[in-house]
Amino acid sequence: MASETTFLSNAENLKKFMRLPQNGQLIAEYIWIDSEGGTRSKSRTLPEKEEQYKPEELPIWNFDGSSTGQAPGADSDVYLKPVAVFPDPFRGAPNILVLSECWNADGTPNKFNHRYEAAKLMEAHADQIPWFGLEQEYTLLDLNDRPYGWPKNGFPAPQGPYYCGVGAGKVVQRDIVEAHYKCCLYAGVKISGTNAEVMPAQWEFQVGPCDGIEMGDHLWLARFLLHRVSEEFGAKVSFDPKPIPGDWNGAGLHTNFSTENMRNEGGMKYIEDAIKKLESRHKEHIAVYGEGNDKRLTGRHETGSIDSFTYGVANRGASIRIPRECGAKGYGYFEDRRPASNADPYQITGIIMETCFGAVSE
Ligand code: ADP
Ligand code: MN
Ligand code: MN
Ligand code: MN
Ligand code: MN
Repeated sequence: MASETTFLSNAENLKKFMRLPQNGQLIAEYIWIDSEGGTRSKSRTLPEKEEQYKPEELPIWNFDGSSTGQAPGADSDVYLKPVAVFPDPFRGAPNILVLSECWNADGTPNKFNHRYEAAKLMEAHADQIPWFGLEQEYTLLDLNDRPYGWPKNGFPAPQGPYYCGVGAGKVVQRDIVEAHYKCCLYAGVKISGTNAEVMPAQWEFQVGPCDGIEMGDHLWLARFLLHRVSEEFGAKVSFDPKPIPGDWNGAGLHTNFSTENMRNEGGMKYIEDAIKKLESRHKEHIAVYGEGNDKRLTGRHETGSIDSFTYGVANRGASIRIPRECGAKGYGYFEDRRPASNADPYQITGIIMETCFGAVSE
């Protein structure tokens, strides 16, 4: 069929070039977040160094923001400020990945640079020692935007066999999931696990616990790695919170959170205190918890309703769940189940800190 999008790969041929020595140079892949919640990247050559570059040792760079919807054409330069460095699992040592913040020419953070505000909040409340753990759900699509392995016309059998599924007909594209897991470990991303999800072609990986701003950095890098790995396997990654309407689970970004007080004996008092504060700002949180989340937070398919704030021990139909083990022990952490799969982790973690511990004065 001429209209079908096909996938061409020359992985075998590429191998002999990837092995060539680099003459004392390394390739730094600068990565940033665009206006659509995607990641972009471009490469540059730098001298190889004995120890890994620290962000502040790397040059500030720039890109054409008018090509990414991040700046007007007449004033198009957006600056890339390195904030975190990781070993590059695609090119191997000594090459690196450089996560960068976007800054405008006038010295203000770019509109889509949500890391800037989050970092200020993390800094101001560092004494809380905040830990986050995010559960990133996503759907793998073929190049024609159909969930991988779904029949061209019609639907797979109803949900049930797919969650943590094993075996043909239950899961697809496990090679992408495996490759991504290894890439995260190689890069030093704090990935803590992965599982097949309730809807076929839907998967999840978890990152955390991470301390403060590290949460957003590691999740964004994990997202970049997933897009990049899937590119090699000819699949698309969708972070749409409700990719298929109807009786199919949506995709979330469950946010597990604790402070030192919550993790210690008697911590439940601090957990309940935080939940009360979250209740009072439900609407403000929903506003930054992802686009299209109204299609997902219906009160069905293991979600709470978008219009009400609820919480409970072991309740997966609530906005906030206290894990059973924490409920029993009386301390630990809680899970905010509201964020959608496409939300920005800097915005989520930032507003949780602001709501629980106060805004940062200028
Ligand atoms: P679920 O049962 O909701 O599917 P997962 O096992 O997928 O839970 O994810 C749990 C997440 O909680 C992990 O990312 C983990 O790092 C995180 N986590 C565990 N303990 C804490 C804690 N004390 N504070 C914050 N996050 C935590
Ligand atoms: Mn150019
Ligand atoms: Mn999970
Ligand atoms: Mn899940
Ligand atoms: Mn969860």
